[in-house]
Amino acid sequence: MPYRFTFDLSRVPCFFFTEIARVSYQKGMHKSLFDTLQRIIKKFRIQEATGLNLSDAIVLIQDLIDLQAVNLVERKKFLQTKKRALLLPHCSRKYMDGRCKAAFEPSIPSYTCAHCSPDCLVNKADCLAKKKGYDVYVLPGGSCVSKIMRTAKYEGVVGVACGEEIKISAALLSDMDVAEQAIPLIKNGCANTIFNMETLVKTL
Ligand code: SF4
Ligand code: SF4
Repeated sequence: MPYRFTFDLSRVPCFFFTEIARVSYQKGMHKSLFDTLQRIIKKFRIQEATGLNLSDAIVLIQDLIDLQAVNLVERKKFLQTKKRALLLPHCSRKYMDGRCKAAFEPSIPSYTCAHCSPDCLVNKADCLAKKKGYDVYVLPGGSCVSKIMRTAKYEGVVGVACGEEIKISAALLSDMDVAEQAIPLIKNGCANTIFNMETLVKTL
């Protein structure tokens, strides 16, 4: 399920959300931080700088910080896992049409990258994760997650998607006792989306 608004945070330093989540979690102020955030967003006219309205900016930033907090809580458990998968969103492929040479396997369902474009984010992530022993899935939607998890019993999952999609999958994985690490997209829009490769490297 996409956000009903588009955003591009690619020029916001990637440590911004991680640092806020880390500090707020450690100080036990995770929830009260949200009230402060709302005031900061208003005061610094974030919605005008990003093109988002106030309520959308609050939703987005709260989601991103919430996901970072879950990552911190789950990190230790995740590091103890052996069988892992990386779930990538199909919207981060360089091409969304026939120029993408990935094979689509409807029974999973998932794309398998054919490495046609060296500068494709999915290609880079696929190569990196496979070298580290991960199985990689390039998903057409979050609804595929439950099927994958029922078929292959992964202990740990790294999921890349927009915050809305991650929240739904995270609840599912938590119910299945799977340790998850989430990497939210920093530019959404369901095509030509972007995630931070440096964050992926650190997370894997
Ligand atoms: S590198 Fe892979 S995911 Fe990217 S466009 Fe080519 S086949 Fe598709
Ligand atoms: S931005 Fe990507 S991950 Fe989010 S809903 Fe659209 S296609 Fe799915």
